[in-house]
Amino acid sequence: MTEDMPLDAGARESGEFFRRIVMESADAVVAVNRDQKLVLFSPAAEKLFGYSRDEIVGKPLDTLLPHRYRSGHAAKVNEFQSNGSPARYMGDRKSHLLGLHADGTEVMLGATILTVATDDGPIMVAMLRDISERIKLQQELAHMASADPLTGQLNRRAFLESLEREWHRAIRYKTELSLLMFDLDRFKSINDTYGHDLGDQVIRGFCELVRSSLRDIDLFGRWGGEEFVAALPHTDLRSARSIAERIREALAIRRFEAIGFEAFSVTVSIGVSDIRGGRISLQQVIKDADNALYEAKNAGRNQVVIGNAAGSIRALASGTDG
Ligand code: GH3
Ligand code: MG
Ligand code: MG
Repeated sequence: MTEDMPLDAGARESGEFFRRIVMESADAVVAVNRDQKLVLFSPAAEKLFGYSRDEIVGKPLDTLLPHRYRSGHAAKVNEFQSNGSPARYMGDRKSHLLGLHADGTEVMLGATILTVATDDGPIMVAMLRDISERIKLQQELAHMASADPLTGQLNRRAFLESLEREWHRAIRYKTELSLLMFDLDRFKSINDTYGHDLGDQVIRGFCELVRSSLRDIDLFGRWGGEEFVAALPHTDLRSARSIAERIREALAIRRFEAIGFEAFSVTVSIGVSDIRGGRISLQQVIKDADNALYEAKNAGRNQVVIGNAAGSIRALASGTDG
């Protein structure tokens, strides 16, 4: 509070003035002393955490924290209290705090924290509000913006974003990175024969099959329609080819059921490329895989082809769709 605020001296000095602000604030106001014991707990804090002021004042700050954060938290508070840090706001998707309600549920909190020097040592004050709804909405939006609604896999934009990160990492650390392009074979006739809904189910089934064949660190996304793409970090062309081959085989032997029809199967053509030690652009890597996929289609479908821009494209001995 600065001297030039237009308040008369009485109001300015009055503890009652500040007490009213704290008591009426819609944000919870909580303070802890040097021993990290609660010394102030406003009515909004009672509502936020489900404790009455009388039962919580004097208790350790830990009481308001989820158990898994308790061990590390005291040191952070100590540091904040002792180095006279300026007031700090935390309340975005990455930096919000987590609080523990008396009923055991966790709340996501936006917080302004500051340290006030007093005769009894530094007091850390936190002004807190429940931002769970907003954070959940943000997380939902972020998920919606990156996931393909039919399959739940990355959409093309999100895949490309992640691929670019993997690409830079592979160049920087001189590691391998391979790309797989998939296109389901004769999918128009699957739709025509069994209907679009079953076509959708086949696409979802294919995605589950691919995802279960890949590692968590591999990227998998929907390129568009019945075309998909995977990026395999730390994987050379040879290994990528055998992974593609395994996926191709697994799909070819899988039976899909449809009421009123005999069980049927679906095949996939796959183009494989790699970054070739970073000597070509990312666009070229994608183009290589795409060209190889095109070759796989031309060569009869249901096969894996590895390709590179030098023009040597090689089909692997595998089945055809007859
Ligand atoms: P091929 O790739 O072997 O050359 O033949 P294709 O019949 O698969 O050819 P194309 O790639 O031209 O056609 C893809 C078909 O996939 C056309 C489209 O109706 C269908 N398709 C694309 N997206 C979806 C989808 O989300 N659900 C369903 N059920 N079908 C889709
Ligand atoms: Mg297609
Ligand atoms: Mg197709």
